[in-house]
Amino acid sequence: MPALSKRTETFTDSVIRRMTRISNQYGAVNLSQGFPDFEPPRELLKRLAEVSNEDFHQYSITWGAQNFREALAEKQSRLMGRRIDPNAEIVVTCGSTEAMMAAMMTVANPGDKVIVFSPFYENYGADTILSGAEPIYVPLYPPEFNFDPNELEAAFRQKPKALILCNPSNPCGKVFTYDELKIIADLAEKYDVFVITDEVYEHIVYAPHKHTYFASLPNMWERTISCSSLSKTYSVTGWRLGYIIAPPHIIDVAKKVHDFLTVGAAAPLQEAAVTGLRFGDDYYSRLADKYTEKRDLFLRGLDDIGIAHTNPQGAYYVLLDISEFGYESDLDFCEKLAEKVGVGAVPGSSFFRENVNHLIRLHFAKKNDTLNVALNRLSDIYKLKK
Ligand code: GLN
Repeated sequence: MPALSKRTETFTDSVIRRMTRISNQYGAVNLSQGFPDFEPPRELLKRLAEVSNEDFHQYSITWGAQNFREALAEKQSRLMGRRIDPNAEIVVTCGSTEAMMAAMMTVANPGDKVIVFSPFYENYGADTILSGAEPIYVPLYPPEFNFDPNELEAAFRQKPKALILCNPSNPCGKVFTYDELKIIADLAEKYDVFVITDEVYEHIVYAPHKHTYFASLPNMWERTISCSSLSKTYSVTGWRLGYIIAPPHIIDVAKKVHDFLTVGAAAPLQEAAVTGLRFGDDYYSRLADKYTEKRDLFLRGLDDIGIAHTNPQGAYYVLLDISEFGYESDLDFCEKLAEKVGVGAVPGSSFFRENVNHLIRLHFAKKNDTLNVALNRLSDIYKLKK
């Protein structure tokens, strides 16, 4: 038999998705793959039921249903502080996973370099490899996960084509300040580099931190490819609705890439989601309040148990320090945690470029009851100590 493609040899399956399968196998409370166990807003579900009897069952326009793009443009124009053209500046994709992949394929040639902050969401590694690009990793230093501007500039000096910016950041919960973003922006301009953002946690930010859209920084619209999705904002990770927002000449190319990758996102789901895109600003402040309550509940529980952890400024992940448990492999620890304690987590090593094995990631996008069950089980975590 002929060999399979070389480009797939250098990465494994997703550890995040693998941990979900392991959690299910042991009946663990799955705090690994980040998705809610509570319902999406009722209005979306009601509209979804109606849509099933309406005429939305064939392909929508490949770059997104008109109705969806208009509602999205209206919402994002308000948030990003510039008028987004629904016809020329948006591509609707199958989740932000496709958005990021399409963005990479749009800007990168084989051999191009792409800056990725470490720790990073594991898809970016695979995205760069699949598009033939080569990552340059720049560390974010705990506890605040700040970068060193000199190290960042050294990466820019290697003539990268793009930088990937996940803000708020998965898995470390960093929300980049305006000043930090300005440093990145100045370097992107000085070295003429694109910035591809992943802003799926844009509405999950804890006071006093604030989300700044990178594209809204002075002169950054022209070189920013903003990717996001509806998954986290409306608790519909299974709907696979994401999008790219960028200037028309970039979107023209992204439309082609997207068209040949997937043709389009599900038409009935786009139509149902318009209801959410038209929510007023109070919806987003209630969402932030809800997640603030969950974060406080979960972190308080971890403190009571006595495990050291990060303090997320945004997104819904927390990294636990498992140094004191005496494991060499964080994957081994996570498997034991699922099996013996009954809680699913993701080994931190799948997010770090550096050799980090003492952190595990848990998420708290769950009903308070589920979080309490998980905390109750975690109170037994010290039995894993070697
Ligand atoms: N972004 C979520 C996480 O990091 C879900 C990842 C996924 O499986 N698409 O867990």
